[in-house]
Amino acid sequence: MQLFDVYSLWNIEPVEAKGCRVWDKEGTEYLDLYGGHAVISIGHSHPKYVDSICKQATKIGFYSNSVLNSLQQELATKLGQLSDYPDYSLFLCNTGAEANENALKLASFKTGKKRIIAFKEAFHGRSSGTVAVTDNPNIQAPFNKGHKVVFINLNDIKSVEKEILKGDVAAVIIEGIQGVAGIYQPTDSFLKALDSICKTNDVPLILDEIQSGYGRTGKFFAHQYADIKPDIITTAKGMGNGFPIGGVLISPEFEAKKGMLGTTFGGNHLACAAAIAVLDVIEEESLLSNAFKMGEYLQQELNKIPAVKVIRGRGLMLGIELKAEFADVRNQLLFENHIFTGGAKNGVMRLLPPLSISKGDIDIFLSELKNKTA
Ligand code: PLP
Repeated sequence: MQLFDVYSLWNIEPVEAKGCRVWDKEGTEYLDLYGGHAVISIGHSHPKYVDSICKQATKIGFYSNSVLNSLQQELATKLGQLSDYPDYSLFLCNTGAEANENALKLASFKTGKKRIIAFKEAFHGRSSGTVAVTDNPNIQAPFNKGHKVVFINLNDIKSVEKEILKGDVAAVIIEGIQGVAGIYQPTDSFLKALDSICKTNDVPLILDEIQSGYGRTGKFFAHQYADIKPDIITTAKGMGNGFPIGGVLISPEFEAKKGMLGTTFGGNHLACAAAIAVLDVIEEESLLSNAFKMGEYLQQELNKIPAVKVIRGRGLMLGIELKAEFADVRNQLLFENHIFTGGAKNGVMRLLPPLSISKGDIDIFLSELKNKTA
């Protein structure tokens, strides 16, 4: 059997990784400023994380969500404390798309309404239609019964208000920072106004923090810079540092009912062990503060490089636009200097390194970028 050929692949096969470094089959060392789309939060193969998963695997890796699993509550309690959402509840799943699907279902169940407001250029995942083809009214989300989505320009609060005032909106969904689009931020004032309009009109606000969350910006969630409390927050990527796990943080306004949401693998023992270790390391190694400081340093130094046209983002979620003549620099950094960076729409270079990155590693990148663009 062959693999279904849907990915454009670089001819590099990482076989080992540690911290911010990755090694390929030939033993070539790479500096990782990408973390596989913001997945690597505490650094590759962190010893505490590896130890926790291995120990758990020797006890029990999986049973099912029909029996008690106290690791889930341990994870929820820690996540509530570190993210400053101790009063919210947690629904555990496996991926970002699944977290968003469940968030939209919850909002639709609660409001019984049929329209979703989303934002132009937003990315929320690739699943579709699973619920639409499920013939069970208890599971089926009203979301798939003739729901419509309206896309609005980011930061256009007047258009959001106009749509909400029509009275048929089930939810607003927005990324903490748009990642795939090229690192575009909702302004803090826009988020505040959005939160306020949603609350006034009883429209659940869903913050997709799948890429921008888990400490990446220097706060646990990017929206916390705007000092708002959305009704639902979705998370995945950095939550498991590579182990697949996603979560939906749900405000106390939502009442759980048996059978309302569900999943086979969500919150399994191994995933919980991984996610608990991630939170422990984030706390013990002050990774939020490191992400903030290293992000400031990166921005400050990038601003001094003449080839850099624009820098967007916060903390360790940065988008860099280089002058047109340097369009190939990302490839050169990878193949000549062995530095992984990410791409985004319109040639934007995306930096999403592990939150544990050091100033020394950032200096290596800056120096190579200067050389390539001198
Ligand atoms: N939401 C955002 C903001 C993302 O960046 C992504 C993935 O890149 C997703 C959702 C989907 O996550 P997953 O690929 O885990 O389904």
